[in-house]
Amino acid sequence: MKIIDLRSDTVTLPTPAMREAMYSAEVGDDVYGEDPTVNRLEELGAELLGKEKALFVTSGTQGNLLALMVHCQRGDEVILETESHIFLYEVGGISAIAGLVPKCVPGKRGIMQPEDVAGSIRADNIHFPKTSLLCLENTHNRAGGSVANVQQMEGLGAIARAHGISIHLDGARLFNASVALSLPAAQLVASCDSVSLCLSKGLGAPVGSLLVGGRDFIGKARKVRKMLGGGMRQAGIIAAAGVVALKTMVERLRFDHGHARYLAEGLLDCGFHLDLAQVETNIVIASTAPLGLSATEVVMRLAGVGVNINALDNNRVRFVTHLNVDRADISEVLSRLHALGRSWRATGSSQ
Ligand SMILES: *Cc1c(COP(=O)(O)O)cnc(C)c1O
Repeated sequence: MKIIDLRSDTVTLPTPAMREAMYSAEVGDDVYGEDPTVNRLEELGAELLGKEKALFVTSGTQGNLLALMVHCQRGDEVILETESHIFLYEVGGISAIAGLVPKCVPGKRGIMQPEDVAGSIRADNIHFPKTSLLCLENTHNRAGGSVANVQQMEGLGAIARAHGISIHLDGARLFNASVALSLPAAQLVASCDSVSLCLSKGLGAPVGSLLVGGRDFIGKARKVRKMLGGGMRQAGIIAAAGVVALKTMVERLRFDHGHARYLAEGLLDCGFHLDLAQVETNIVIASTAPLGLSATEVVMRLAGVGVNINALDNNRVRFVTHLNVDRADISEVLSRLHALGRSWRATGSSQ
């Protein structure tokens, strides 16, 4: 039985073109700034996002941590959305390593309201920490791949600028947002001082992220990256796959979005609850409540028929479409679900 893995877009495997590029990559010592392939990847990333410079980092987590450490002083406060990746899933590095205080603001589907952000910025008072950074996330992972549009990004940008605080975008899936909006990524991030983006998710590269921003900011981030042990030597071997990712894999994210939509429609037929309007990119979050089963039970039953997904909480599961899943795979998932559904309708509703 073919295993169909919809746990995350991080499970994507490098393409033959990526392996080819890795094999023949020209390399040098990147700590000396002498790896031509890393330099090319960084130039390409900066250009695509309309910023001065970029830095190749080991992971999205490292990119976000560097941004926190460069934008802020220890003891400062950072405004984040309550369900943001930086707050929930980065092992508390914001406090444990960067020494910062997170101030969580709940958003609507991951998008904070400008007035809530404005109301969370600290006044100048001897008792208060200084608010020095606003972090955004687009697309928003935990909110199911929701997209913030240019107006929303700029509205939040205006608030930050008015108060003299910087904006960092956790753009792990930035290109999913730009493709969904049919808008150049640079336009979407125009109001951000820095952006991190993942090469290793839907873009298919095996390792790595980029942190992008101004010349001075990236210069400082390069030094902090070295301090955190992220100075890699002949990193061109992995950066080569990143170049292929940025050059050839962005537009195809559209297919992942189409597959997510097709999957979501099928899940409705199988008795899950979800709002189709909320399936904007490559993530589908569905409630298992109408099936009379907990999320963990559904995850286990699906694993039993070779479909891997994650539970989001007690009664919601998450499906993520990506490069290594095509439309036929989604049809296969739905037919396995229909077969299962016949059995859980027989047993589930009585539980
Ligand atoms: C995946 C992800 C990251 C970073 O992930 P790494 O596994 O550290 O590369 C950051 N933010 C969001 C929103 C993500 O989805």
